Parts: sequence; C-alpha cells; structure tokens
Amino acid sequence: MRAHPDQTAPAPFTNAVLDRRTVLASLGLSLALAGCAALAPDAPPVATGAVVPAPTPTALPRPLPGAIPPPVAVPLPTPALVRVGVPSGTLSGLPGEGSLLAWTVDDGSSSDVVARYAQFAADTGIRLTFFVTGCYDAWTDNAEALRPLVASGQIQLGNHTWSHPDLSTLADAEVTTELSRNHDFITDTFGVDARPFFRPPYGVHDDRVDALAADLGYTVPTTWYGSLSDSGLITDQQVVDFATTWFLPQHIVIGHLNFDPVTRVFPQLLGLLHERALTAVTLNDVFTSAAHP
Ligand SMILES: [Zn+2]
Repeated sequence: MRAHPDQTAPAPFTNAVLDRRTVLASLGLSLALAGCAALAPDAPPVATGAVVPAPTPTALPRPLPGAIPPPVAVPLPTPALVRVGVPSGTLSGLPGEGSLLAWTVDDGSSSDVVARYAQFAADTGIRLTFFVTGCYDAWTDNAEALRPLVASGQIQLGNHTWSHPDLSTLADAEVTTELSRNHDFITDTFGVDARPFFRPPYGVHDDRVDALAADLGYTVPTTWYGSLSDSGLITDQQVVDFATTWFLPQHIVIGHLNFDPVTRVFPQLLGLLHERALTAVTLNDVFTSAAHP
C-alpha cells in the first residue's frame, strides 16, 4: 500500500517538482475559457505519476442508470475536530490517520457551475474549499449566494491568483500583484481572509514564488493528491471514476468550477463519501493559522 504523503518528510511532488513544459504538454485539452486570459487547465501534479492501488471493486458504489440516489437533504454536521497548526511548506494532504477528505475546487470559469456547487453545499451541508480566480465573473455573479456559506465557514475561500498565470514565469512584482489583487477582491467581496492558503495555477511554484507569497501572508502553497481531472471537459462517468480513485482518507482532492459534468454526479460523489465513511472538511476545519487561529 502507498504510504500517506508525509507532512514532515519531502514528498515527491513538493517544491516545484513539475517541469512546466511537462505540465503544459500533458494538458492535452486546449480550452477556450472565456474571461481570464491564458487560463489552461491545472494538470494534476501527482495523479499521473503516483502509484496508488485502486480501491477494491466491492467498495465502489456504482450507480445504475435510473437509480441515481437523491441528494441528501439533511445538512451534514460540522465535524468536531482537533485542529492543528498548519505545517510549513507545500501542503498536499491532511495529517495523520483519519477519515477526512478536503474537497477543493478551483477557477470558476463557469458561473453556472459555481452556482450549482453553491446550491449543492447549501442543500447538503457539505464543507468545501473554493480556490478563487477573481477575474471570472462567476465570483461576483454568485457572491450573494456564496456569502452566507462563506461567512459560516462551510465554504472556505483560498487564493488561486487573480488571472491564473504560471507564477514561475512572472516577475516578482507581477507575482505579488496576482496574489494581492485576488486577496483584496476576496476580502472586499466576501469579507473573509483567504490566507494562508494559496493554490499556484497548474500546481507550479518554486522557492521564489513561495517567498513572495509568504511575504503577503500566503505561507501555504496548497497542492493536492488526487484530481477529478475536470479542469477540461470530461464525461460524467469519468468524474465519478476519478472520484472513485481519489476520494480517500486524508486526501486533498482538486476539482474545477469550469464544466458541468461534476454537477450532474453530485449524488454519486456524495454516495462515495458515505460509502467510505469520509467526512468532507475545509482546510480551516483541520488547520489553525495566523489568519484563522
Ligand atoms: Zn486553476
């Protein structure tokens, strides 16, 4: 069995292990995403290379056609957790043994998908972390619906830069502007402090980027260990299959607010959580930090 990523020892994908050319070459899909310039899908930094045994088939709730379970109408309880100080360095998983899943979603090129995720959260009580790319209209379009969920902490907001560039290619001042402009947008629009978690677009960052981010209080580059791989358009079933592979204890999983297949399989994804006795949590549910003591 694969060991859980160790938060104290160097993980194979920490600290800018991705060669940008490799990342871009692996993207495959070339997307015409309106709104922000130069947005391409995030490549999963680990999913392609990680050797992770698939869950046993008996553990997989494969919904039958016509037998899709209804959404859970009763809000899930807020998990009672003992929070720990967020470790320094790249964060790609949750610490220790447990049954938590950090379901994180990025970008927001589709206002409709952001709206559906917000409704999913409101309907079910599921706790999610949204990494906001503020240049997309979705965030202002849906601000009213999101505000109460954000205020309660059920939806946490993290910083995914203003316009989704590869930060490693930018001058220092541009890196700072990408993060600080988005920080100010999140604070002004939602009244919360997104620090210390930032997600570098494409998962690409390096010591320079990390130092510039840390100067702004974004001390935790937050990557992932498993992806729904839906930054581009895939099928509903593929979303379910990737969730089946990656909805595992103490994992941080990345999804995207860009295309609607995921919004049609929310019941199946929720079914996976229940089947596996996983509790979805935000990062602030698990970690304390200066901004969220
Ligand atoms: Zn992204």
